[in-house]
Amino acid sequence: MSKTILGIIGGGQLGSMLAIAAKKLDVETIVFCDDADAPAQNFCTKFISANYNNKEKIIEFVNLVDFVTYEFENIPFDTLNEINKLKPVLPKPSVNRLIQHRLAEKDFVNNLNIRTTRYALIEKKSEIDSLKDLLPGILKTTTLGYDGKGQHPIGSVEEFNSLNIDLSKGYILEKLVKLKQEISIIITRFSNNKYEIYEPIENKHEDQILRFSKIPAEINKKIYDQSKDWAMNIAEELKYVGTLCVEFFIDRNDNLYVNEIAPRVHNSGHLTINAYNVSQFENHVRAVCGLEQVPLKKISNAKMTNLIGEQISHYRKLSKFNENEFFFDYLKKEIKDKRKMGHLTTLL
Ligand code: ADP
Ligand code: MG
Repeated sequence: MSKTILGIIGGGQLGSMLAIAAKKLDVETIVFCDDADAPAQNFCTKFISANYNNKEKIIEFVNLVDFVTYEFENIPFDTLNEINKLKPVLPKPSVNRLIQHRLAEKDFVNNLNIRTTRYALIEKKSEIDSLKDLLPGILKTTTLGYDGKGQHPIGSVEEFNSLNIDLSKGYILEKLVKLKQEISIIITRFSNNKYEIYEPIENKHEDQILRFSKIPAEINKKIYDQSKDWAMNIAEELKYVGTLCVEFFIDRNDNLYVNEIAPRVHNSGHLTINAYNVSQFENHVRAVCGLEQVPLKKISNAKMTNLIGEQISHYRKLSKFNENEFFFDYLKKEIKDKRKMGHLTTLL
């Protein structure tokens, strides 16, 4: 029998780690990316570089694969929808469309009776007067944001008014949560409606970019259970197939809020590569390609450190790591400020 071939849209570190996991399962991968220097070309079976709206190249890609998945959510819905007519796209394009829009995403979560921060769409400067109780808050673009990009903290009405921003691009204002902690849940849902769910991961951000993740998270039983329940509700409601991440806030009174959903493998789940028998990447490939589900077993507690910008240089020079340390270099061509260059997982 010929090998299963998985098409992956996007060729960054997530695409790379998906390709590595697929290889282990004897699944071939074809990565499609608009960046000719994309790191995943080092790990996949075949690499195609073209613009995401290059129909001819997309068709060439789709003809070569059995299933299509993606490593980032900002792919035009129409592109995914067209591909889905030819080969199964998982997670479904409709899931992606919902989650790539912050307002639709938050409305969806609230409709499940799951708590989020308070928020409102803001389309005109004058609307701020009726939204004062959302201050201090954060103004966020409704689409295309990541690693804190497109976000502006707003302390007061005066501060908001002095901002030079084109609100017609689509913004929401979100109340600032007095954060005690942040956690995430990674869950993989299979097409037979079964799940594999990882324990809550505790995350620390610096400059709105994830810097550290660890298990176990230092949280109480109620938050442990509630975060898992909510992630399961969300995955179930979406009839999701693949790996999904739910990011949560915990405030100083131990209230849990959903921050956002990532319809894909997630940076906070990198430690699952070394801390579990099956990683978030392997589980994603298993679910999307309809392979066997393997019960999760935790191997170890762990901590993951993101290596951002120049932080990678020190680790690149090291020739040896401790037995419990695992260094990943994403092999990005250029070191850039605030760019995720690699990570180090330490088993504890
Ligand atoms: P991104 O899409 O860039 O990941 P997030 O909405 O997850 O955007 O924001 C990134 C980080 O900024 C969060 O993980 C958190 O640390 C901080 N942050 C965002 N929104 C809020 C908020 N309403 N209250 C407190 N902190 C926030
Ligand atoms: Mg986030």
